[in-house]
Amino acid sequence: MADKLLGHVVIIGIGLIGGSLARALKEQGAADRITGVARSQQTLDKALELGVVDAVEQDAGAAVENADIVVLATPVATINTLLNTITDHLPEHCIVTDAGSVKGSIVRAARDALGDRVGCFVPGHPIAGTEESGVEASFSTLYQNRRVILTPLPENNADDVQVIRGMWEHCGATVVEMPVDEHDTILAATSHLPHLLAFALVDFLSARENQQEIFANSAGGFRDFTRIAASNPIMWRDICLANRRQLIPLLNEAQSQLATYASFLETCDGESLEQAFQRAKQARDELPGIVASALGLPQPEEDGGVEE
Ligand code: NAP
Repeated sequence: MADKLLGHVVIIGIGLIGGSLARALKEQGAADRITGVARSQQTLDKALELGVVDAVEQDAGAAVENADIVVLATPVATINTLLNTITDHLPEHCIVTDAGSVKGSIVRAARDALGDRVGCFVPGHPIAGTEESGVEASFSTLYQNRRVILTPLPENNADDVQVIRGMWEHCGATVVEMPVDEHDTILAATSHLPHLLAFALVDFLSARENQQEIFANSAGGFRDFTRIAASNPIMWRDICLANRRQLIPLLNEAQSQLATYASFLETCDGESLEQAFQRAKQARDELPGIVASALGLPQPEEDGGVEE
């Protein structure tokens, strides 16, 4: 756990991710002051009413003028624009970080916007979230026992990376570092592809004539698989577009996997189907243990649940 106060933290975007960060830092007394920035007065009023932040500001440029740390926690496409808005207003000592789900496009935008000062930008991504959006959905424990990935740049100062690491550790997260490309490749597989598949399944089934009947008879398995299709469509549009280079080849592989399964069904090849399901089940059964090890937590007990 980091042990020094973070000073004045300005969080641009106080929805689920930025609001939860603000709440956790406030609960830990980790910052001297937290200012929240959003476009709408409604979001700002709500954030104050809920006690998520100490102060609010609509103008991102003005908000960062006396910041020690700036966290960009708005949808991916807007982070690029906001970097341009704040650049000329940043104090010399200020560290800028972000929470965007894609790193390559944001790092390119940071290089364009910040130029020689790009060393002040420490890219980050908390691997935590829900399908809910907005400041009302934020909660202080979102990052507890979750990973945060930092993708530091060669230009970063080690002390600045340490400050951002400490900020997330104050929220109960385990912080790891990896290269930008590795982050985008891994997240395409574990987050972006599953969201795309969930959106596709619900979209496809909801267009059927007997949609009401289908959904009325859905069980736990369907709801588990499609929970993330209730996520914010604009946010996920931006994420998929920003990471399309990694996502398209994976989507092609997933399509060919489905075609293979279809061929097993067409030829009534139960043995191959069972082997494929067995491999998947084994990998899925090992998942909780792998996640627990990665977070340094005790191994989970088996629940032996059966899915419909
Ligand atoms: P969210 O709940 O929709 O919150 C977005 C916030 O940004 C709102 O407070 C919104 O308020 C504000 N905002 C939007 N555009 C803005 C702009 N141009 N200037 C200033 N404020 C702006 O979204 P979120 O789920 O917290 O996601 C935020 C970021 O975290 C995204 O980059 C996402 O990729 C990343 N992330 C999300 C998850 C997840 O599961 N949700 C997980 C990890 C990382 P106004 O509408 O009032 O402006």
